[in-house]
Amino acid sequence: MRIVLLGPPGSGKGTQAALLKERLQVPHISTGDLLRAAVKAGTPLGLKAKAAMDAGELVSDELVLGLIEERLGQPDIADGYILDGFPRNLVQAEALDELLARLGQPVDKALELTVDEEQIVQRLAKRAAEEGRSDDTEAVVRNRLSVYHQQTAPVTGYYGERGLLVEVNGIGDIETINQRLVDALD
Ligand code: ADP
Repeated sequence: MRIVLLGPPGSGKGTQAALLKERLQVPHISTGDLLRAAVKAGTPLGLKAKAAMDAGELVSDELVLGLIEERLGQPDIADGYILDGFPRNLVQAEALDELLARLGQPVDKALELTVDEEQIVQRLAKRAAEEGRSDDTEAVVRNRLSVYHQQTAPVTGYYGERGLLVEVNGIGDIETINQRLVDALD
């Protein structure tokens, strides 16, 4: 099963992707995780990405596309994948389609986790207190949400037009939401 997981920051994509990965036995590919690992390791890519991430802006398409192309070139995606945090704008969505067509691994479903904005701000404030992620401060969270509305929300329309989009209610306990996602895959 080849899945794109969509939804605003704080919608629980990462948590749900980790559960789906166990259930479906396919790799979970998060561009946010790949970028944070690059920043931590101090690679040239990480150094270039850090400022945008700290500001809640998108890292350049060029960097992210290079990263995803390398990751999707690995053999463990043969049985499927869960993409989380990518694609994040229409340019990335189109580039992804091209890449996946070349690999013969097109997307089967795009699952969108829907959560209202008030919940998101609360969840991210909680995560900031617990994990101390440097982009969870209030001003940066606000910017990430605004970037989401402007650049990422249109990606749901992209998959909708192709008949691949399913909206899933992202409010409830973790297991319930996970079951909704699994049901949406049938
Ligand atoms: P969240 O969904 O909570 O914003 P992520 O871990 O997906 O968290 O992303 C964190 C940051 O990493 C983003 O704000 C952005 O700077 C960068 N990033 C992640 N994925 C992409 C992407 N596909 N394109 C551009 N930037 C990205």
